[in-house]
Amino acid sequence: MIMFYNTLTRKKEEFKPIEEKIVKMYTCGPTVYDFAHIGNFRAYVFEDLLHRFLEFAGYNVIRVMNITDVDDKTITGAIKNKVSLEEYTETYINAFFEDMECLKLKKATYFPRATQHIPEMVSLIKILLEKGNAYFKDGSVYFRISTFPSYGKLSHYDFNKILTSSTDSDEYEKEEARDFALWKAVKDEPFYWDTEIGRGRPGWHIECSAMSMKYLGETFDIHTGGVDNIFPHHENEIAQSEAATGKKFVNYWLHCAHLLVNGEKMSKSKGNFYTLRDLLKKNYDPAGIRYLLLTTHYRDPLNFTEQSLKQAEKTVNNLNAFYQRVSFGIQTQTSCETNIEKKICKTFENFFDALADDLNISAAMGEIFKFIHDVNESFDLGKMSSKDSEKIISFLDKINEIIAVIEPIKEPLPDEIASLIKKREQARKEKNYAVADSIRNQLSEKGILLEDTPYGTRWIRKQKTT
Ligand SMILES: [Zn+2]
Repeated sequence: MIMFYNTLTRKKEEFKPIEEKIVKMYTCGPTVYDFAHIGNFRAYVFEDLLHRFLEFAGYNVIRVMNITDVDDKTITGAIKNKVSLEEYTETYINAFFEDMECLKLKKATYFPRATQHIPEMVSLIKILLEKGNAYFKDGSVYFRISTFPSYGKLSHYDFNKILTSSTDSDEYEKEEARDFALWKAVKDEPFYWDTEIGRGRPGWHIECSAMSMKYLGETFDIHTGGVDNIFPHHENEIAQSEAATGKKFVNYWLHCAHLLVNGEKMSKSKGNFYTLRDLLKKNYDPAGIRYLLLTTHYRDPLNFTEQSLKQAEKTVNNLNAFYQRVSFGIQTQTSCETNIEKKICKTFENFFDALADDLNISAAMGEIFKFIHDVNESFDLGKMSSKDSEKIISFLDKINEIIAVIEPIKEPLPDEIASLIKKREQARKEKNYAVADSIRNQLSEKGILLEDTPYGTRWIRKQKTT
């Protein structure tokens, strides 16, 4: 049984998709006016974990992630740089896809762009106008919130109570002010669309309703985002969509908590603002960044520090070292560790159950580390056969379909190098560090880097530098 915490009901609920074996999922994607920052990537990594886990559990995931390529910021950027909107956003769209690849984020099935779905937005707005849920004002179209009584059901704000309990006219003014724009009339700006509802450009909220329903249907399974999307963005998406269709928009709403940097909200003025690219420039390893963003439970705030990033890199190194040890460690010919299959089964079951409990990744990883500890012990005692190793490797490969931080090195080392590594290990055991260091240098000249970890010595081939 898979349980997710649903923001709509504020409860953990059993997950049941509308169609058996298919999950339809929508993710609010980037606004492409700049490079995405690690706060954005926290949400995308959480969504990646959700996507991968659902596939792991046997579902076919149909996922949409929108690209917001028209809004105040993209328009300002294009005007400032004297280029078309398309030209301006193209740079950041490409950068976003590169960043996704770098962090091993699974691709969505569809990446619809707002500017390519104006007709869909206009027809949705026309329905809302016909039904009286929307009205024109100075050429723009607004959603009339008073026509949607359950407004506030996602954020759990009671707007009706606030309004009826208030008698002062200021509050009454606010009822109009809380109505939000579906369509913004354009007079002097260079970017607009001429449509049946006039010359203008879409509001942000309508784009997600129009594009999610186009690709996933009027009711779909999961909608995700960061907690700061709950209000007003997702609340407005529900109002527009449900007012238009008369049907429930989304069954499960999953939101991830904030990312803080050194305990503070990330901001450019505080100097604690990082894009993914900033961290790569500082030579941090993408797998370490992914691991750090992945392993705090998505509903807990994540405090990002460079120290925690270094720790995450170490953990990834340990996972890689273990993988290599199992792949190339010295093994006996016959199976001694008869329990290995049982151990793998149990670990796998516990790993899966932890993730099925609202993506409890720390408990899931705890199971893996316990397993590694036990297997290492058997290795130390010479109790591993090559058959055992094969089973462990295929288990690790399976786990890596979800965590995607292990970089499997599958080709064995040339004998000459393997024997040098063995010689060095022997020298280290005898505390003959001069010899150990000289072998390390020798290997380095041959393009092999060594790293000593609690799980044995790990080797990697040096990246070719150009
Ligand atoms: Zn959205």
